[in-house]
Amino acid sequence: MGFECQQCGECCSHLGLVHIIRKDLGNFHFIVYNQYTSDETEVTVDPDKHDLFLDQSIFTKLPEACPFFRHVPSSEMAYCTVHLTRPEICQDFSCWRLLILNHTGRRIGRVMFRRSLVTDDAFLTRVWEECIDPITETDVTVWDKEVVRILTQAGYLVRQ
Ligand code: SF4
Ligand code: SF4
Repeated sequence: MGFECQQCGECCSHLGLVHIIRKDLGNFHFIVYNQYTSDETEVTVDPDKHDLFLDQSIFTKLPEACPFFRHVPSSEMAYCTVHLTRPEICQDFSCWRLLILNHTGRRIGRVMFRRSLVTDDAFLTRVWEECIDPITETDVTVWDKEVVRILTQAGYLVRQ
């Protein structure tokens, strides 16, 4: 299985530092400007997300969030309200190569790029430092296989 967004919202929570609304074209159409690449993209709020977009309360808690990012606390799900027309940089973004879940199926860590672990979990960090960091295998497929074996043995589920 390839990359599949888990809608945790981590990546969009600070992307207001990158994406700003340059122009409101009316009727839920906007020009969004990327302050790093200078790219401009015309985006439209998805038809089923108008109410979600109009709720601005997220910016009290996450003042640096992308202007199109919204979070629904009751479901703990994060949404891009312009998902269908989001900028290319967002369409191309994949935040994991291997996804690590605990025994309840909750996402607990992810492996990005070739070998970087992102996690807040102390036990997983220890397993990683003690058993995975020392692996010197250079072939990524073989390395992945060994990492999946070790993490599975430690009680995790790994999605690739
Ligand atoms: S791309 Fe990754 S970090 Fe961003 S919302 Fe999806 S799972 Fe979370
Ligand atoms: S446009 Fe959508 S996917 Fe891109 S940063 Fe904003 S909320 Fe996230």
